[in-house]
Amino acid sequence: MKITRRDFVKTGALVSGGLMANQLSPSNIFGRQPVDGKLIAVATWGGTIKSTEKAFEYLKAGKNSLDALEAGIRVAEDDPTNTSVGYGGLPDEDGIVTLDASIMDWNGNAGSVGCIEGIKNPISVAKLVMHRTKHVMLVGGGAKKFALENGFKEENLLTESSRKTWEEWRKKNPHGVYRVDEKNHDTIGLLAIDNSNNLSGGVSTSGMAWKLHGRVGDSPIIGAGMFVDNEFGGAVATGNGEFVMRTVGSFLVVEKMRDGLSPQEACEYAIKRIYKTAKNNRDIQIGYVAINKKGEYGAFSLYDGFTYALTTEKESKVMKSEFLVK
Ligand code: ASP
Repeated sequence: MKITRRDFVKTGALVSGGLMANQLSPSNIFGRQPVDGKLIAVATWGGTIKSTEKAFEYLKAGKNSLDALEAGIRVAEDDPTNTSVGYGGLPDEDGIVTLDASIMDWNGNAGSVGCIEGIKNPISVAKLVMHRTKHVMLVGGGAKKFALENGFKEENLLTESSRKTWEEWRKKNPHGVYRVDEKNHDTIGLLAIDNSNNLSGGVSTSGMAWKLHGRVGDSPIIGAGMFVDNEFGGAVATGNGEFVMRTVGSFLVVEKMRDGLSPQEACEYAIKRIYKTAKNNRDIQIGYVAINKKGEYGAFSLYDGFTYALTTEKESKVMKSEFLVK
């Protein structure tokens, strides 16, 4: 069965999280209260619950939040049915899969890769950029060269199913005109707190399907797609990256937490900021997920349909985000 991104979000998430659809009721959705125990893994999109569960396994085993989130994100990157991350990600207008990822630890160290081709786990390349170089960001051919020199192997990331989807799109759009399409993108953004109370964040995506070759989204831009400040909290973004970049969204969310807002209030603030300039644009969707050092979490999106995944000692569940435009 071909699993589309939306199906993946709806069914994959609920099945793997062991939840029935009616458990997505308002009474169990908007988490603002501190979770029991300090270990927590939370991620954009309900379909990533296997990733938060993998990250949590690592946290439970005493691993740090950086290794935990990397392991979690790799689950999504390796999954060919997830058509917006890693292997199986939908390609750009030329039929080439290009990936973006970034990672940040509790000391403020950061690494990222943009527009990397042929490497299935960009989150791990981003981690290596952070650990082995003096730089923060590598892109394109340079990022791939760095990955190959550091033991990553080159793979064809375009699955048969993604190739067919691209071919169908191409037939209908012979001139390859890029259009924003709410259905053809998503990002896994994962935040984790470990048993030393250290917070890390990471994101990974194939970006907008049918994008112009060379387009880089918000995900590898530190402060836009993801930001972590170990004193206050962290945030990750998903959705049309151009709008997130223009408002430096994740940094904004974290700065609002620094000012005293809860994660929920901070996400709402950042979405409202985007809405100011994107009022009439119904084609886009943006969602933020944030946590603070107390383990409080929140999520908010522009429109209906955004979900997120949470795994703690007590539970592993998919939640529906509140949204701005009713
Ligand atoms: N933010 C990603 C990008 O613009 C896509 C998404 O999360 O939907 O590349």
